[in-house]
Amino acid sequence: MAKNLQAIRGMNDYLPADTALWQRIEGTLKRVLGTYGFSEIRMPIVEQTPLFKRAIGEVTDVVEKEMYSFEDRNGESLTLRPEGTAGCVRAGIEHGLLYNQEQRLWYIGPMFRYERPQKGRYRQFNQLGVEVFGLQGPDIDAELIMMTARWWRELGIAEHVSLELNSIGSLDARKNYRDALVAFLEQHIEKLDEDSKRRMYTNPLRVLDSKSPEVQELLNGAPALADYLDDESREHFAGLCELLSLAGIPYTVNQRLVRGLDYYNRTVFEWVTTSLGAQGTVCGGGRYDGLVEQLGGRATPAVGFAMGLERLVLLVQAVNPDFKAPATVDAYVISSGTGTQGAAMQLAETLRDALPELKVMTNYGGGNFKKQFARADKWGARIALVLGEDEVAAQQVVIKNLQSGEQETLAQSELAVRLASMLG
Ligand code: ATP
Ligand code: MG
Repeated sequence: MAKNLQAIRGMNDYLPADTALWQRIEGTLKRVLGTYGFSEIRMPIVEQTPLFKRAIGEVTDVVEKEMYSFEDRNGESLTLRPEGTAGCVRAGIEHGLLYNQEQRLWYIGPMFRYERPQKGRYRQFNQLGVEVFGLQGPDIDAELIMMTARWWRELGIAEHVSLELNSIGSLDARKNYRDALVAFLEQHIEKLDEDSKRRMYTNPLRVLDSKSPEVQELLNGAPALADYLDDESREHFAGLCELLSLAGIPYTVNQRLVRGLDYYNRTVFEWVTTSLGAQGTVCGGGRYDGLVEQLGGRATPAVGFAMGLERLVLLVQAVNPDFKAPATVDAYVISSGTGTQGAAMQLAETLRDALPELKVMTNYGGGNFKKQFARADKWGARIALVLGEDEVAAQQVVIKNLQSGEQETLAQSELAVRLASMLG
């Protein structure tokens, strides 16, 4: 026999036992997005490689090490999207959505990064991303964060995530800071690990989130980014902090928070948790006022964030097990006797007409009543509807509450109303 075929490492199947919870979580996220007036945008999963190089930056982990790039049959270099912002901006420019307009967009779907797979880190993973174009004030930054806080409350995880915030200022401010930081690092080069030495000249801000404890220790004496901020960014950041306080959202200013992608300026933020081990960042984002222009559009302020859905689902499962997927089936229709299967199928159809939200499953494959009741239990149905020849002849049905065991016989014409009240 041929060798067993398997999924690619780090790329997961999501089976029915998982997808029901995913759907409920996604449903909650999308409903809340709607209450803030956001609209969905769908972009291709594959884009031209230079888009990501230009948007994300050449000297970033994503572009240097993590992209799935390949040549298509025409010899053009394409890449499986590692994140959604670049494609969203590309689409916005291409379709004229951005110039002189305000857009509040979200997208959801798979992203691809060649990383070492482990809990909370995969090679194909799903993000929900949110991007706002055309607004430059700190008020919209605050609203995005308020919306995420609402998500956490609705998902019952608010106690398990905390907000880290920073401002990385304007491009010029960062250039000045960069020079000061490099000068400092040069004086202490012997304490830097290989990664930091390499980044020191290519992308020195990334040294700030080095994982090496020695480097972190060294950085306590380094110049602080906050001292190099331009006045406008400083004011912007103060405005954001004030609005968050007004909204009652606690935050920590983390001076070392710079984020991995080059396009950010001013506000950067992350929601982190200690409940997931090493992969603690659930959601991160910030302002990227320069990106639209950098990708060929007219200068447009923008702010957004992306959330890792696998991490979010893991977190909900870990800290709020009461947030469960709804049952697959509410009512399971059982029948036995000549002509009853057709009647059962008809009854199920009538119920779907009357109660569009009701989940009705009809027994197929025959079997005696005992077997059919066992199937009803296996599917998690709360109610069994039973038809024998007598019930079919009399236009009646037996309704059995599978939790309490109570049952009664009633006219089929009364069934929909009864079910609606039983199931709430
Ligand atoms: P990390 O530091 O964990 O690698 P990142 O800074 O690379 O995260 P972003 O590019 O900001 O992540 O992506 C936003 C979110 O997407 C992350 O906060 C995380 O929840 C999720 N995410 C990123 N990479 C992965 C991955 N390989 N597997 C699962 N989720 C991921
Ligand atoms: Mg990463």
